[in-house]
Amino acid sequence: MHTPFPCTQCGLCCQNVHLSDETRFLDRGDGTCQHYDAASKGCSIYANRPNICRVDRMYALRYQKEYTWATFVRLNQEVCATLQTQANDTYLDK
Ligand code: SF4
Repeated sequence: MHTPFPCTQCGLCCQNVHLSDETRFLDRGDGTCQHYDAASKGCSIYANRPNICRVDRMYALRYQKEYTWATFVRLNQEVCATLQTQANDTYLDK
């Protein structure tokens, strides 16, 4: 068993589902997931969220042949960092 994905629960992946072909079906029309709850910065269907939203399950289903868990975590964290930079830039532009 590997270490859990170090999610900071910033909610930015759920607010940018339009950026990936794999999550675009969740877009409510402005880039944010139709199941995202802004008040709690959480998922309103968390227990039943799709596989693409589950890092562990996606790793087991699709990526473990290609990457170690540590590499998979790092690649995902790079996306987290990009989204955080983009969010900060947007904030500073206002
Ligand atoms: S289904 Fe839930 S976890 Fe997945 S993008 Fe939407 S709000 Fe986020």
